[in-house]
Amino acid sequence: MQHITGNSFFFHSQSSIGGYKRGDQLLLFDTGNDDSSVKKAIRAFDNIKVIAVFNTHSHADHCGGNAYLSKHFAMPIYAPYLETSFIENPILEPTYLFSASPPVSLQNKFLMAKPSTVPYVISDESPISISFDDAQIDIQPVALRGHSPNQFGYITPDSVAYLGDALISSEMIEKHPLIFTFDVKEHIESLHRLKMVKAEGYVIAHGGYFTDITDIIHSNLEALDKTQNLILSTIGNGKSTFDELHRKIAYTYQLTENIGQYWLNRSVIHAHVKYLLEIEMINFDIDHGVICFSK
Ligand SMILES: [Zn+2]
Repeated sequence: MQHITGNSFFFHSQSSIGGYKRGDQLLLFDTGNDDSSVKKAIRAFDNIKVIAVFNTHSHADHCGGNAYLSKHFAMPIYAPYLETSFIENPILEPTYLFSASPPVSLQNKFLMAKPSTVPYVISDESPISISFDDAQIDIQPVALRGHSPNQFGYITPDSVAYLGDALISSEMIEKHPLIFTFDVKEHIESLHRLKMVKAEGYVIAHGGYFTDITDIIHSNLEALDKTQNLILSTIGNGKSTFDELHRKIAYTYQLTENIGQYWLNRSVIHAHVKYLLEIEMINFDIDHGVICFSK
């Protein structure tokens, strides 16, 4: 793990893991993809004892190491309300994406982490007190809904904010312009809210550590806006089905999709369509099994 400042650390990988260490005791913010990700993150420290885990949200690349840690340390897991249901019952993730019992091809480690039990449910932004051998500290949760149903970030006493996937780095957006979103309205609100979250530094899971996130917030807002405009221009003065919108987005963003990526992208398109319906930019009609969207 790399040292940031004070007692705060992070392990830079495909999905970064945060840490707050006092003596031989360590708190983790998210746990990476699987056993090996979290093992790599903590092996920088000799004889370390993980005393608690804070999950930002339930996506498998953020809670994949929970089960390993639960087995090896007597430690509690904290996670936000709703996200806890998915962490404890990973089958819910491919089930909501597919909207029925999911095919075996969707039941993989990218969509389903090993299940873990979450005894501490976070439902608001009240500080959470954690006891180390030598001190009592407060972790400050910050509601950052939108990317997932109820994502929270966490700020340590060193003023380092671990933001999960509330922000995606500008480089990642270049490569994957269809950024994952569950609720576009809440996602946009969280991005504006992040402008007010004052911290010495910010760890974003897919991107690393930053001391200034102004430009990244702007890139994320732009990415959501670009997809909204693409959907609206595809509909034009006519009508479009979900398949037509998906096809246009796949061509424009040059998406290569396996079955998992197909359903993830489809879910993002559903989120954008829901938002456009909500702000009354589009309407829908249903004819013989086909739902069509128009302005
Ligand atoms: Zn995520």
